[in-house]
Amino acid sequence: MIFRQLFDPQSSTYTYLLGDEHARAAVLIDPVFEQVRREAALIAELGLKLQWTLETHVHADHVTGAWLLRRRLGSRIALARASGAAGADRLLEAGDRVTFGDRFLAVRATPGHTAGCVTYVLDDESMAFTGDCLLVRGTGRTDFQQGDAAALYRSVHEQIFTLPDTCLLYPAHDYRGLTVSSVGEEKRFNPRLGGAVGLGDFTGHMQNLKLAHPKKIDVAVPANLRCGRPENDRFAAADPGWAPLTYSFAGIWEIQPQALEEYDGPLQILDVRESDEFQGPLGHIDGAILIPLGELAARAGELRRDRPIVAVCRAGSRSAQAINLLQQAGFTDIANLAGGMLRWRAEGHEVVGGSA
Ligand code: FE
Repeated sequence: MIFRQLFDPQSSTYTYLLGDEHARAAVLIDPVFEQVRREAALIAELGLKLQWTLETHVHADHVTGAWLLRRRLGSRIALARASGAAGADRLLEAGDRVTFGDRFLAVRATPGHTAGCVTYVLDDESMAFTGDCLLVRGTGRTDFQQGDAAALYRSVHEQIFTLPDTCLLYPAHDYRGLTVSSVGEEKRFNPRLGGAVGLGDFTGHMQNLKLAHPKKIDVAVPANLRCGRPENDRFAAADPGWAPLTYSFAGIWEIQPQALEEYDGPLQILDVRESDEFQGPLGHIDGAILIPLGELAARAGELRRDRPIVAVCRAGSRSAQAINLLQQAGFTDIANLAGGMLRWRAEGHEVVGGSA
């Protein structure tokens, strides 16, 4: 099985990608709106087809990427019927299975943090995705969104602690950098409800947490009740329209050699190699402006801001750094030539100079 744990630093949310290796079918648990490009790039690079996005609950601290992923990748949206959300393709009940290829996740109702919280358990019970019900050495809060400490206690003891001790537990958040736990570990060491902690101890503890409300709750909850659909389409222009670009998992817009060859608008090709390389055996692209990477910060002012820039180097790594630099300098329409001069030449595109 293919498994990736992804992190959104803004909200400390974990998103989980699970894929069937043979069928190349995947699901994404708790995607974050702002990370959709990153997730889509990873899914494409791994050669997966996203079948479902799943929510463990209606989140208060970030907007789900479910709707945007459906739009971009054609995935379908599933979440608990008890969440009360509208706009899903499938509403899940306890005992339901969500399949991807030959694998599936089983749905367990684990209310308490919210009334609609669920835990997804992998078919062989080797992993469970507990959302904000059970966190690593902690639990989700129970003081808003129909939170109920006694229900949460029962959910953990009856639905999660009944899984095998070796079952790995993956939470929706961690604020201390912890990434995973196990049923056996949480039973022993969870200070809120592991060991001999009883229901009364737990509800007493939860009533006295006195946490501040999440900053984004007023935006996030209504948006998540629509599965992350924005109220207007203002983000539609978020993808650059000047050329067919792809977004790499490293966070950089790339243009493929063929797309650059076919591009016929105004453009600046920025070659960031050293001048001996520029004149060397690989040659350079006709009309390229030479500014070696080491001089770019000081000389960025030589570039025009009113036409797109494609950065080029030998193999695409220095030019990726150049993109970051230009981004910081406020340039917007910029892309990296994927594979650099090496690929440009290998694919037979024209160069000036260079050896045969
Ligand atoms: Fe939550």
